[in-house]
Amino acid sequence: MSKRDYYEVLGVCKDASPEELKKAYRKLAREYHPDVNKAPDAEQKFKEAKEAYDVLSDDQKRAQYDRFGHVDPNQGMGGGFGGGADFGGFGDLFDMFFGGGGQRRNPNAPQRGSDLQYTMTVEFKEAVFGKETDIHIPRTETCDTCQGSGAKPGTKPETCSTCRGSGQQEVVQNTAFGRIVNRRVCPTCNGQGQIVRDKCNTCHGAGKVKKQRTIHIKVPAGVDDGAQLRVSGEGEAGSRGGPPGDLYVVIRVKPHEFFEREGDDIYCEVPLTFTQAALGDEIEIPTLTEKVKLKIPAGTQTDTYFRLKGKGVPRLRGYGQGDQHVKVVIVTPTNLNEKQKDLLREFAQLSGEHTHEQEQTIFERMKKAFLGD
Ligand SMILES: [Zn+2]
Ligand SMILES: [Zn+2]
Repeated sequence: MSKRDYYEVLGVCKDASPEELKKAYRKLAREYHPDVNKAPDAEQKFKEAKEAYDVLSDDQKRAQYDRFGHVDPNQGMGGGFGGGADFGGFGDLFDMFFGGGGQRRNPNAPQRGSDLQYTMTVEFKEAVFGKETDIHIPRTETCDTCQGSGAKPGTKPETCSTCRGSGQQEVVQNTAFGRIVNRRVCPTCNGQGQIVRDKCNTCHGAGKVKKQRTIHIKVPAGVDDGAQLRVSGEGEAGSRGGPPGDLYVVIRVKPHEFFEREGDDIYCEVPLTFTQAALGDEIEIPTLTEKVKLKIPAGTQTDTYFRLKGKGVPRLRGYGQGDQHVKVVIVTPTNLNEKQKDLLREFAQLSGEHTHEQEQTIFERMKKAFLGD
């Protein structure tokens, strides 16, 4: 798939100023951030905008992009540039291909904890009106005994002597590109940069413990199946003083025996007798909150929809409510007694309908039409 032009992605012209770029990027980021936009392609669009902004907001990268267009690292050095063309900033391209080695992670830097996901099943009406409940989740938390250091109280972890606390060892290799310095995880401390001699008895040196936690969750009125609630800071514990991750609660809504839901609207089906439909009637319809009266006009056909305004689901973001749509289905009477049958035959005759005997002749006529005399 060919990549979209970065200027096109951000919706700006080629000579856009840094301020214009920033404004355009912020607008897109707000629109497509996966936290706010649940559309399936939102994340992709967000990433696309971020990539475009990352390149265009960097003067050097922007100049390179203006000159060469998209660079596909998988095409290798030659591809996409037309062989012996004047390369200009080779050093920068080299950095683009090999990451430039700029960002080395410090093993002692605080690290954010992982996010957790919990699936919560709620009743149909609980999703409509909201619900508060406690959930129980197992998660890792910072050890209280050692405050996360992993060392017995009164002792401290020692700096690793092999890597002097960096957590990494450098390995030098000679290759066609020249000397390449590879860094690998220090085998003595497993990349931790420090060694715990006297381990904490509670967490056995891990600095973290598994705990069962009770968390209070507020399910907002109007959530729908598949919605995700983010509970900030209730994920797994961070490392070395880093913040905890977040907890994501995924909502699953149980079906209802009578109602169906589509967005903020509610759908239901009610049976109507032939006489009710023909003569008109007033019937009671259950809604999410109460029973309301619905006037059925005389001569209503089967599968007709009636709308009960504002009887749907409260809108999750914003004000007001959806509607309830009532579909009436006309039920043909069965198990008629003789008197009822007679009345219906009389009704049919008055309406000028064909009786059983007349249908026979129609059948005869059809037979002739298909088979000839
Ligand atoms: Zn501990
Ligand atoms: Zn080490």
